[in-house]
Amino acid sequence: MTTESNSDRTDLVARLRAAGYKITPPRLAVLEVVRQKGEHLNPNEVLEQAKAIHPALGRATVYRTLELLTQLGIVRPIYVGESGPTYIRADGNHHHLVCARCGHVVDFDRCVADEMTEELAARFGFTITSHLLEFYGVCPDCQTRPWREEVSDGTDPGAHPQA
Ligand SMILES: [Zn+2]
Ligand SMILES: [Zn+2]
Ligand SMILES: [Zn+2]
Repeated sequence: MTTESNSDRTDLVARLRAAGYKITPPRLAVLEVVRQKGEHLNPNEVLEQAKAIHPALGRATVYRTLELLTQLGIVRPIYVGESGPTYIRADGNHHHLVCARCGHVVDFDRCVADEMTEELAARFGFTITSHLLEFYGVCPDCQTRPWREEVSDGTDPGAHPQA
């Protein structure tokens, strides 16, 4: 797994300061949770865990802080399925297998995009700092379940001929 250091934390705090934000205890608690626990926490999970650090923390503050950290490029929201976003750290590379049916997400480490990074940087003149790579498909569980097509609201069922 990733190794975290205090210099990493200092760096994140410095980025908040540089952007003109005060380092308040609630913000620090959210930052700590995102930094340490890292991957795919939804706002409720961030709230629960950050409360262990700062018990008076409220839901609205968590949402605002996650928005702020997103704007600053410290975290990145991931939208999969119908549930709200989960947050991952924006630095470093991230790789997903996403089940299109149930929204299950598998993280994996090894990938071939590193080779592409130099090529893309040269071709488009980008300085590339990280990548997010996602593959979509159907997870093993869903493959064994019969697939039920959801009929979206507002459509007239009579318009579809029955097979
Ligand atoms: Zn699935
Ligand atoms: Zn992930
Ligand atoms: Zn990669």
